Amino acid sequence: MLKEIYKKIKKYDTIVIARHIGVDPDALASQMALRESIRKTFPNKSVYAVGSGSTKFNYLPKLDKQDEYQDALLIIVDTPDKKRIDVNNFDSFSDYIKIDHHPFVENFGGIEYIDDTASSASEIIYRLIEETPLVLDYDIARIIFLGMVSDTNRFLFNSSSNTFEVVTKLLKKFDLNLPELYSNIFMRPLNEVRLQGYISQNMNVTEHGLGWIKITNDVISKFGVDVGSAGNLINNFNYIEEVIVWVFISEDVKNNLIKINIRSRGPVINHVAEKYNGGGHRLASGAKVSCMEEAEALIEELEDVCKDYLEKMGDSNED
Ligand code: AMP
Repeated sequence: MLKEIYKKIKKYDTIVIARHIGVDPDALASQMALRESIRKTFPNKSVYAVGSGSTKFNYLPKLDKQDEYQDALLIIVDTPDKKRIDVNNFDSFSDYIKIDHHPFVENFGGIEYIDDTASSASEIIYRLIEETPLVLDYDIARIIFLGMVSDTNRFLFNSSSNTFEVVTKLLKKFDLNLPELYSNIFMRPLNEVRLQGYISQNMNVTEHGLGWIKITNDVISKFGVDVGSAGNLINNFNYIEEVIVWVFISEDVKNNLIKINIRSRGPVINHVAEKYNGGGHRLASGAKVSCMEEAEALIEELEDVCKDYLEKMGDSNED
């Protein structure tokens, strides 16, 4: 199928690459690595990477402006569902390719390459480049590495032997400056670290190992962070002995909604997120609700999921 993707890329003179709303480093890195590689392989093609950016990720190449495109191919990376694709006029494209590492949600109407065992969308872009004549150079290798490190949280999650093989190849072939790359991704302001301390102090932990906290707009303002950065701190709460699933409920006053981030180190949680206008991976999901009552209903469902999980674990330990 990777060869078919390459053939389609070869066929179109105009190619637009999009990914999900609420940009994160892997979404952006997979998009940028693919754009740079297609541009370097086919200098006469017009290739654009579109969507809303964030100044937080200015260590990655810049996005292009959205335009009206004629007879263009749309490639969507790192996105399983149509409603979260960050692109205008989805239906105006001539053809579609999806490249994703989320569990399948829906078909976009073209080639679909999905591997939900891949660490990141960036890892799949590497595979595509490796198995086709697409160009790989130092800059592209650097972008792919950034996407992989970031989505795996420094290879803590979803890292298989394939992941480490890709990393080994990148490091062997290109002299990547790891300290520089890590400081790009992991440097953070003191305010965020202080908010992390607040969350540790105030997280509620239920009988069945559900950790949850409401991060109100007052708290977000007091610590001087934005709601997205507050939510991202969820990734720093793994490996707490008493907690198997943890949830942040953040008030997003600007968008008049409540953003939910959920992580798990056992129970599958994406089916619960899907019921609350959300989705994601089995152990890392997000959702959006409109009021605290809905958020509380979600907490209750997750508590049940934790309870079932612990009971099953108990049963299997007795066997
Ligand atoms: P987050 O907690 O925002 O980092 O998201 C974790 C995972 O859930 C990512 O794979 C997101 O793409 C996915 N996700 C987050 N929010 C939503 C949503 N509202 N709908 C569907 N998927 C989501």
